[in-house]
This record gives sequence, C-alpha cells and structure tokens, in this order.
Amino acid sequence: MRPVTLTTEFAERMEVTYSCDSDHSFVRTFAADAAVPTTWDCPHCGKMGSTNSVPETEGAKITGKSHWEMVLERRSMDELKHMFTDRLKEVRHS
Ligand SMILES: [Zn+2]
Repeated sequence: MRPVTLTTEFAERMEVTYSCDSDHSFVRTFAADAAVPTTWDCPHCGKMGSTNSVPETEGAKITGKSHWEMVLERRSMDELKHMFTDRLKEVRHS
C-alpha cells in the first residue's frame, strides 16, 4: 500500500464530551491520533471535568496500534474518502 497523505482539510478529528461537577458539559475536538486527556478544566466554572467516553486512543495504548491503523482495519480508503467528502459537504452547508 502506498503511503497515505491527508491534507489538513481531511485530517480526521474526534469530539470528546466532558462534564464537570456542576453539570456543565463541553466538547473538545482532538486530532484522531492525539492522546485524549480523561479530564479537562471546565470553561464555565473552572472545575475539573471528566469524560465517560473512552477514547479509542485508550485502545491504542493496549494494542500498540495507532488510531489511524485501527481505522484502516475497519474501513477501506474508499470508504474513508466518501466519509470525509460527505462530512465536508455537511460542514460547508451548515
Ligand atoms: Zn463547570
């Protein structure tokens, strides 16, 4: 397989939702291959927020595979291209 080069525009991102003790919830967007912290300071009250969603990068630590490698196992490049293209259309039309 030839190396895959993604432009910034197509870089995969994931959204992680955090919530704090005061029931504020907020979303942070990370690059798909970023190490996602399980806690984040709440922008509303400054308390520590935590996330219940387990980022897939947690699995990466166990398997030793990057998020990107795991994505490629589940999806073909053609599928990914379609997903990126569809998502881009949504973003541009919103
Ligand atoms: Zn808060």
